[in-house]
Amino acid sequence: MSAPGRRPGDLPLDVLHLDMDCFFAAVEVLRDPSLAGHPVLVGGTGPRGVVASASYEARVHGIRSAMPMSRARALCPSAIVLPGRFDAYREASARLQVILRSVTPLVEPVSLDEAYLDVSGAHRLSGTSPDIAWRLRRTVRAELGLDCAVGVGRTKLVAKLASKAAKPRIEHGAVVAGAGVVVVAAEEEREFLHAHPVRALPGVGPRTADRLGRFGVSSVGDLAAVSRDSLVRLLGSSSGRALHDLASGRDERCVVAERPARSIGHEETFPTDIRDPVELARRAREAAARVATRCRSAGVLARTVTVKARFSDFTTVTRSHTLAAHADTAAAFGDVVCDLLASLPSGGGLRLVGVHVSGLLAAAELPARQLELFADGSGQAPGSDGHAHRDRRDDVEAATEAIRRRYGETAIGPLARASRGTSSGPAGPVGPA
Ligand SMILES: [Mg+2]
Repeated sequence: MSAPGRRPGDLPLDVLHLDMDCFFAAVEVLRDPSLAGHPVLVGGTGPRGVVASASYEARVHGIRSAMPMSRARALCPSAIVLPGRFDAYREASARLQVILRSVTPLVEPVSLDEAYLDVSGAHRLSGTSPDIAWRLRRTVRAELGLDCAVGVGRTKLVAKLASKAAKPRIEHGAVVAGAGVVVVAAEEEREFLHAHPVRALPGVGPRTADRLGRFGVSSVGDLAAVSRDSLVRLLGSSSGRALHDLASGRDERCVVAERPARSIGHEETFPTDIRDPVELARRAREAAARVATRCRSAGVLARTVTVKARFSDFTTVTRSHTLAAHADTAAAFGDVVCDLLASLPSGGGLRLVGVHVSGLLAAAELPARQLELFADGSGQAPGSDGHAHRDRRDDVEAATEAIRRRYGETAIGPLARASRGTSSGPAGPVGPA
């Protein structure tokens, strides 16, 4: 039973914590299935590199995140070490966010692969919290091809510890499948919390754990048995009180929905400065294409395109242009980017080019979404190389599918090319600002 004076049912089981399983490594395996079943490490490959993500096959060898890469390689010399492709991780993360937000707008991302959800307003449409947790896990598997663990509890602390408890674990050098979803009911919460080491509580680092250890406190249960006054004397007023509350199951932190992104961008620093305008335009269009892909993954369109250019002498300038209509295509952004680049003072080479788009609008708020898919009219993707057509069609299909998924099968009709004022030419007047 829970603390005296509170009934177990006081707070509903409305907090979910979803955490992807070895996210970066799993995305790499998805992109190159020949990696499946092998120890895969993503992280810094330099002398001071650390492990950012390790597959379970690597964890069997005792490898953990944040371990120096040199030590990880020594533990498992056959590990496949990859430098990481953050664009791919961000894209998978954006798709994850879309899935989470289809359940509730109350989503608080903690990192690329982890988020809290408050599902208190979602029960009528989506069922009980455990139903939602299991369905999320299946949807993430079906749509991203990736596994995750979901914890369900009355508070953020319990939900987070529950998702951890739902993960696969290593036992006697082998991977043991996790439950996938762990639900901690109100009446089980106390026992569940108390079994954890104090380090499991937010705010307890090695130093605090050490201090508590010398006081004979190693588990959350030990901590809950210490009076608030003693904890305040030991750890100071704010930590003492905060930890006493958490150990007693009081966690008043709410799920705070993140404000939607204000801009989406991609910057590239070149290994050597680029002077050739043709090469610069090509690289800038590549950056514009990445930004467009991320906009579509996130389900947003943008109105303002900004180019950032850093010259050899580190002088940095930005130029912006606002489109007549919102867009999310590589061609629409790329055309503006090239015009803006051409308007820059010429001379020195460039060491960095960045493309940012802002004035974002959720695709859902734009009724004629399907028209925008063809809005750039050029029919040419950047760096047009024969794959452009296929890529473009993939984009259209992906977008169509995403719209159907979110708004129902009838939300978007057959992809007939609808007539707009002009059927060719970029979306909106394009030119230097
Ligand atoms: Mg994770």
